Amino acid sequence: MMRSILITGCNRGLGLGLVQHLTQLPNPPEKIFATCRDINKAEKLREIADKSKNVYIIKADLKDFKDYARVVNEVSSHVGDAGLNVLFNNAGVATKFTRIGMVKAEQMTETYLVNTVAPIMFTQAFLPLLKKAAAGKQGLGVHRAAVINMTSIIGSIAENKMGGFYPYMCSKTALNAATKSMSIDLEADGILVACMHPGWVKTDMGGNNAPLDIDSSCGDMVRTVMGLTEKDNGAFLQHDGTTLPW
Ligand code: NAP
Repeated sequence: MMRSILITGCNRGLGLGLVQHLTQLPNPPEKIFATCRDINKAEKLREIADKSKNVYIIKADLKDFKDYARVVNEVSSHVGDAGLNVLFNNAGVATKFTRIGMVKAEQMTETYLVNTVAPIMFTQAFLPLLKKAAAGKQGLGVHRAAVINMTSIIGSIAENKMGGFYPYMCSKTALNAATKSMSIDLEADGILVACMHPGWVKTDMGGNNAPLDIDSSCGDMVRTVMGLTEKDNGAFLQHDGTTLPW
């Protein structure tokens, strides 16, 4: 179904969990591109890549926009004319909870840079490879091409009951808005775009009190992504495929 996928931020947390799950599928993708900022420090990812020859580790710091062309070229050299089926913009940062009196401009700009600007510009950089994968096929889904933006229920305006959290909340709300626009812009090219809330998960970001473990969240997300169809284009989905309110 899906011959190739690229996931950002794979040295730990949900990115690492997604790579692990994909390698364990009965029919895994032929090529799984896993990006991280520092390959030398990504021991767990390197262990997976040593065992699974379909895992390719690529260095990518998403704040280094000028380096995107190199990342695209590296992926292109492996996939050729088949293109890239799925781009999963997973990497993200969060700041501590802040009320309006405490929030700092630097927190806002830094969080926007990684959580909003990077997924938009990274997707733009990968459009030629996504278009190649989508060309000459019917319908929408991972058999063709898809962009998944890792968002959070915290970015839902409808569900905001706690206030505060300006940097992270606004960056994910903006990512959701970008997801909707991309889904409209790219539909004619046969590229599906959706955003995904992984649940509240025990990672460095989610913390130990989170109810979900990485394995359950990633298992659900892989199943949901594999089953995406036309009706999911522009959707805000939870890990298990449930639609969430904007
Ligand atoms: P995590 O454990 O903190 O991992 C974050 C990942 O993003 C790391 O691989 C990190 O790399 C990478 N990253 C951060 N800044 C980067 C940059 N400039 N360039 C490239 N990579 C960068 O977080 P997580 O829980 O796995 O979160 C993954 C995604 O899920 C995020 O988008 C997050 O907002 C979202 N999410 C998580 C939860 C949750 O409960 N865990 C809930 C909702 C949404 P380094 O190790 O190099 O920093």
